[in-house]
Amino acid sequence: MIREQIVARGVRDPRVLEALRSVPRDLFVPRLHRLDAFGDSPLPLERGQTISQPYIVAIMTQMLQLRGDERVLEIGTGSGYQTAILARLAKHVFSAEIEPDLAATVLSRLNQLEIENVTLAVGNGIEVFRDRAPFDAILSAAAPDAWPRELLEQLAEGGRAVIPVGGDVQYLWLVRRVNGELVRRQLEPVRFVPLRTGRGGA
Ligand code: SAH
Repeated sequence: MIREQIVARGVRDPRVLEALRSVPRDLFVPRLHRLDAFGDSPLPLERGQTISQPYIVAIMTQMLQLRGDERVLEIGTGSGYQTAILARLAKHVFSAEIEPDLAATVLSRLNQLEIENVTLAVGNGIEVFRDRAPFDAILSAAAPDAWPRELLEQLAEGGRAVIPVGGDVQYLWLVRRVNGELVRRQLEPVRFVPLRTGRGGA
């Protein structure tokens, strides 16, 4: 999986590759899809949501350039697969999931991997960890259809965010805060579930 899908498409950061090797994706995939766990595609989760394609997890993680001392905000815990990889690379991960049923199993999976530097919360990720801001890195696995100002307010000086933005057409964006200003770079076209806002509305 790592050689053919990830290194071949340009993910070379040795720390990212090591983190990917150390987190077995099959642990995070519903039993029905275990045999496909190392395939080149997103997979369905229990509640009509998805676990991201391995390559997308890898490229988003690499974009954050984590060195080990960062506090990271993740939006859309889902299966917890991306959470586990971020936890291997940063000091602490604050991860929010709006769907309560999905969040329930994540903790036991992280425990199985002896990952302890994660704080999980159920709720809208734009809101729930606001009192822990600013964050050195932000990663969203759900796409707002417009520019997420309230989310980017939580990005620390010198920090990096990787976020999909858009509706039917979405692009991944890398956003950095440099001298107080947000500097944005458009990356590749992607397909993420929409970011939900409010109390469970679409
Ligand atoms: N990184 C996850 C992918 C999860 S898919 C994985 O590897 O498994 C995106 C997730 O974002 C879904 O579980 C969805 O329920 C969640 N989500 C959508 N809007 C959200 C919001 N506002 N706050 C937190 N989570 C949200």
